[in-house]
Amino acid sequence: MKSDIRVCASWREHHDRPVYTLTATCPACGGDAVNSAPAPYDPTDRYGEYRRALKRRARQ
Ligand SMILES: [Zn+2]
Repeated sequence: MKSDIRVCASWREHHDRPVYTLTATCPACGGDAVNSAPAPYDPTDRYGEYRRALKRRARQ
């Protein structure tokens, strides 16, 4: 399930702890808020494409 919860992109610099929000900006500092879920694609994951190919094949 995709999460809509966002976290202040620079909370490490501006806040003591992560500031979560449902809006596109941080309510505490007005900065950008980014999706709190980890990035679905890791360009450093050399086996990611291989794994995804296996998944696609399994679905067919
Ligand atoms: Zn903030």
